[in-house]
Amino acid sequence: MDYTTHTQSTRREPTSSVPPSETGRANGAVSDPTVPDAPRAPGLSPKPPPSADVLVIGAGQAGLAVGYHLARLGLRFVLVDANERVGDPWRRRWDSLRLFTPARYDALPGLPFPAHPDTFPTKDAMADYLEGYASRFELPVHTGVRVQRLAHRDRGYVAETSRGTIQADQVVVAMANYQRPWAPAFAADLDRRIVQLHSAGYRSPRQLQDGPVLIVGAGNSGAELAAEIGRDHPVWMSGRHPGELPFKVTGLVGRLLLTRLVLRVLFHRVLTTDRWLGRKMRPKIVGQAGPLIRIKSKDLTRLEVRRVPRTTGVRDGRPQLEDGRVLDVANVLWCTGFHPGFSWIDLPIFDHHGEPRHASGLVPEAPGLYFVGLHFLHAMSSSMIHGVGRDAARIAERVAAAHPARSSKTGPARDVARHDAQTATRR
Ligand SMILES: Cc1cc2nc3c(=O)[nH]c(=O)nc-3n(C[C@H](O)[C@H](O)[C@H](O)COP(=O)(O)OP(=O)(O)OC[C@H]3O[C@@H](n4cnc5c(N)ncnc54)[C@H](O)[C@@H]3O)c2cc1C
Repeated sequence: MDYTTHTQSTRREPTSSVPPSETGRANGAVSDPTVPDAPRAPGLSPKPPPSADVLVIGAGQAGLAVGYHLARLGLRFVLVDANERVGDPWRRRWDSLRLFTPARYDALPGLPFPAHPDTFPTKDAMADYLEGYASRFELPVHTGVRVQRLAHRDRGYVAETSRGTIQADQVVVAMANYQRPWAPAFAADLDRRIVQLHSAGYRSPRQLQDGPVLIVGAGNSGAELAAEIGRDHPVWMSGRHPGELPFKVTGLVGRLLLTRLVLRVLFHRVLTTDRWLGRKMRPKIVGQAGPLIRIKSKDLTRLEVRRVPRTTGVRDGRPQLEDGRVLDVANVLWCTGFHPGFSWIDLPIFDHHGEPRHASGLVPEAPGLYFVGLHFLHAMSSSMIHGVGRDAARIAERVAAAHPARSSKTGPARDVARHDAQTATRR
C-alpha cells in the first residue's frame, strides 16, 4: 500500500526539485531527513566485515525479514543501514502517527507484535518492535553504514560504504520506495516568509506559523495531516481525491472482518503479479495515491478543510493552483511523495522511468541482485509489514539456491532455528 502520494520514478535524483527544509524555516534549503550521512558516534555498531556471502542493504522491516530467513537457511550475511538505530524511519515520522494496520498485521516472521491484535500501534512502538526483532534473532546489523555506490566486481558485487568496502557474492536491496522526499522544483520559488515542510520532516503543528496552510497532495499523508492541522489552522488541501475505503478501519466490523479481507485477501492474495487482476491493476496502483484509509472526506469537511485542484506553480512568491487561483498562505506542507533514491546503484538495471527492472524482486540483468520492500514488488502487500515476510522468504530461498555451500547453524541461524523449534512445540 502506498501510504504517501505516489512515488516519483526517475532514477536520477530529482536535483531540480527542492525538498523543503526539515525545520521549514529556511525555504529552499535541501535537507533529507530520511537517509542521513550519519556522523559516527563512537562505540555504536562495529565496522562491517570486508566480505560476506550476502550483503543486505537496509535494516528496516524488509531487511530484517530477509535477515530472518537468511539466518534460517544458515547463510553468512551482513545487514547494513545508514541510520543510527534500527527503526529510525518510523521514529522520524510525525509525532501523532499511529499505524493504520492493526497489531495482528504488524508482525514480521517469527515474532508477534507485542500488543492486543486489534489495536493500532504508535510509530514509536513499531520502531521499538523492529529494534527488538533485530536483537531477538541476533541479526548481524551494522548501523550508521551508508552504501554510497554498488557496482559489479568479479563474479559478485562491491559496495562502497561510509565505513569501508564490502565485497559480496549476492546483494539484497531491502527498502521501500520512500527514501528521498520529493517536492516540485517550484517549491524553491515560494516567498521565504512562507514556512514550507515536506511530510518527511513534519513532526507536529508546532513547526507551523499562525495562518492558513496549503497541503499539497491529497493522499493518505495529506489527509491525515490535514485532519491534525485543521484543528488550529484554516487548511486547503490540493490535489486529486484518491477515493477512500468504504468502512472505518478502527470500527468493530472494520477491525474484525473487512481489514482482514482487504489486507490479507485482496492485497496479499488477489492483487499479485501472478494473477491477471494484479498484473492489470499494478501500473495504476504504483503510479497513483491509494485510497484514503483512516481519514474520511466527512472528517475533513467537519474541520472545514477546503479541497482545491492541483498546485502547479508559484506566482509572486505564492502557490498557484491549476485553475489559476493564487493562495495567500502562511505555510505549505508538501505531501507529494518520495523518490526511491537509487542513484547509488551503479548498475544498468533501470528502465526509462528509473524503476529497477525486476520480476518479483529478481533482477534478470544482474544475477545475484535482488529487491525486497518495493511498492507492489510481488503483491499490493509487498511494502506493508504483513506482506514483506512472504517476499523475504521467497528471495532468501533464491539466494540460498545460488549458494549451495551454507555455513552450519551458528549465531543468528542457531537462534532463529531455536525459536522456530519453540514455536512449533507450542503449536
Ligand atoms: C507515513 C507512513 C505510514 C505507514 N504506515 C503503515 C502501516 O500502518 N502499516 C503498514 O503495513 N505499512 C505502513 N507503511 C508502509 C511501510 O510499512 C513503511 O514505509 C516501512 O517503513 C517500509 O519499511 P522498509 O524496510 O521497506 O523501508 P524503510 O523503512 O524505508 O527502511 C529502509 C532502510 O534502508 C536504509 N537505507 C536506504 N538507503 C540506504 C543506503 N544507500 N545504504 C544503507 N542503508 C540505506 C534506510 O536508512 C532505512 O533504515 C507506512 C509508510 C509511511 C510512509
